[in-house]
Amino acid sequence: MNPLIQKQNFLSSPLRMVIGGQHKDASDGARLSVVDPSTGAEFTTLPAGGAEDADAAVKAARNCFESPAWQKMKPVTRQRLINKLADLIEEHAEELADLESIDGGKPRGIARASDVASVIDVFRYFAGWATKLTGETLDVSVPRMPDGEFFAYTSKQPVGVVVGITPWNFPISMAAWKIAPALAAGCTIVLKPAEDTSVTALRLAELALEAGFPEGAVNVVTGRGSEVGAALVAHPDVDKVSFTGSVATGQAIGRAAMDTMKRVTLELGGKSPVIVMPDADLDWAVTGAAMAIFFNQGQTCTAGSRLYVHKSIEAEFMARLTEQAKALKIGAAYEDGVFFGPMISESHAQKVSKYIEVGDAEGVTFTLRGQRLDREGFFVSPTIMSGTHQDMQVVQEEIFGPVLAASTFETEEEAIKLANGTQFGLAGSIWTKDIRAGHQMSAKIQAGIVWINCHNLFDPNLPFGGVGLSGVGRDLGKSAVEANLEQKSVLLRLE
Ligand code: ADP
Repeated sequence: MNPLIQKQNFLSSPLRMVIGGQHKDASDGARLSVVDPSTGAEFTTLPAGGAEDADAAVKAARNCFESPAWQKMKPVTRQRLINKLADLIEEHAEELADLESIDGGKPRGIARASDVASVIDVFRYFAGWATKLTGETLDVSVPRMPDGEFFAYTSKQPVGVVVGITPWNFPISMAAWKIAPALAAGCTIVLKPAEDTSVTALRLAELALEAGFPEGAVNVVTGRGSEVGAALVAHPDVDKVSFTGSVATGQAIGRAAMDTMKRVTLELGGKSPVIVMPDADLDWAVTGAAMAIFFNQGQTCTAGSRLYVHKSIEAEFMARLTEQAKALKIGAAYEDGVFFGPMISESHAQKVSKYIEVGDAEGVTFTLRGQRLDREGFFVSPTIMSGTHQDMQVVQEEIFGPVLAASTFETEEEAIKLANGTQFGLAGSIWTKDIRAGHQMSAKIQAGIVWINCHNLFDPNLPFGGVGLSGVGRDLGKSAVEANLEQKSVLLRLE
């Protein structure tokens, strides 16, 4: 039994969606089971929304968006409301961390110090953007009207109703990444969190109401992606879809969104390389490589799941990395001092375990062979595979678990070629003391973000997204606000 569950008021009554400021069950009353990954036991149920619920949520968001109160709301009021929401999240940080930890199997200390803390930063950062939106004045000639005199400018307007669809690996963070820039831009939003991890998003919707956002500004619907998610994406009155999740679902959403020309941001999978140069600070690089793959049990789209180590340091590097991986404290998310928790679900634990077998069949050398742990919950321990080749499935496919595929290189060119040898392009890291090598190599790596001497570090002001199969568009930063705005050009004839 997870001791955190008992003290959660929020879990003491049935969870309901938040639509137009009201708590709602699914229109047909259907519910989904929600399981604690640390124990494998059901701890609550969720409304399994469908098309009718999606429609109600979109209507609520539209009504709020069109309302005079919203249309006339000054940017400074939006800024204050978003800041107020950040304050409430901070006030409820312990509760939110507990909920996130129970629901997603996240070690409790990490949920508080990393996930919830970063959500507060994200809301505060985007609050500031609400009062800093600008258009431009432009010099125009209008060459077909040589005698005319003109004044031209652009203005930015909110796209309207935004749908955010989020995955289970960073539930409250991804909710914040979608909600905060949409509100800063003056949009209203319907969020559809992942069915495995919807709890903190529902709590966030309540806090948004408490902060003073009008009913319908922030709606959260729950249920299966194939049902309520697909209905939202197909809905003709939705203006933009911002999705984070798998490549296959992102492709389906992108195609469906084009039927009504919705704006889309798709942040998809990755198979991110970690390149360790011969001059790297080994203390930093070994710990960096271990954290890059094993943080959040490898269930991270930017996980450093491919390691390329310079041949001259391979033996020492792999030995030290393996030591660190073995020393990671594995345990239930509610236990003290745990770094490495369970996989999100039984089916995911099975998928990850299967990849360990695939690596075996492909002929890798196990520096460390992980396994399904013989205890309750969905635990799979860390795996490090050496001697991998580019054409192996374990090198090409996103495993989304604690499985590292390592090999060596001898030249910078070779390292770049290996790093760029998948269809993904989300992230990568380079470990070196040579500033020239760091910059030159980062320019050649196909990825939305390249870290030098660090990995998996984010800043609200730093745009994040992918190239290649890793997606379209950027979350965070000014780019995320822009993605929720339409640009309008105005041309005024003066003479
Ligand atoms: P995973 O395979 O890891 O569960 P998905 O990409 O399928 O990842 O899920 C990410 C999010 O997308 C979840 O909230 C899920 O419910 C939602 N989703 C899944 N399928 C669809 C779909 N066809 N349309 C809209 N949303 C979907």
